[in-house]
Amino acid sequence: MGHNQAVFIDRDGTINDKTPAYYIYTTANFKLIEGVGANLKKLQDAGYLLIVITNQGGIDKGEYTHKDVARVHRYMRELLESEGVQLTDVFYCPHHSDVQECECRKPGTLLIEEAIEMYEIDRECSWFIGDSDVDMEAAKRAGLRKIRVETNKPWGDAIQPILDDVYKP
Ligand SMILES: [Mg+2]
Ligand SMILES: [Zn+2]
Repeated sequence: MGHNQAVFIDRDGTINDKTPAYYIYTTANFKLIEGVGANLKKLQDAGYLLIVITNQGGIDKGEYTHKDVARVHRYMRELLESEGVQLTDVFYCPHHSDVQECECRKPGTLLIEEAIEMYEIDRECSWFIGDSDVDMEAAKRAGLRKIRVETNKPWGDAIQPILDDVYKP
């Protein structure tokens, strides 16, 4: 079993404001929600790995490409790095249920399971932060504790239970 603690984080509506467009696939439309960088820094400093899990079904629908997603994720990392945050990894599902079924689109848990394996994560000491029903359902199915934040809103003190939960040997 893994020994690392992680916080899994949804992207659209949780990290970035999704008001600008239905699908966010340009850097111009990618705006960090106020305070999210500082919140992630606190989680990082507490020893958590930070792993983004996001549904990007617009790829399957032909709205944008893997290359667009890569560009936006590079930009997201740069913005967060300027606040001292190093994301451990970013996983996305490119599928859409209108086109094909898959196990990775949340509430599916395949991406979470891959991350748990890859980074030797102890799910019992880990959390999921998201803004939607599918995030909460994915967290539940994966056996992670979860925190729901308000869509497009700062997290306030929502992460306090995670900070209080840090494993101390
Ligand atoms: Mg979301
Ligand atoms: Zn998928």
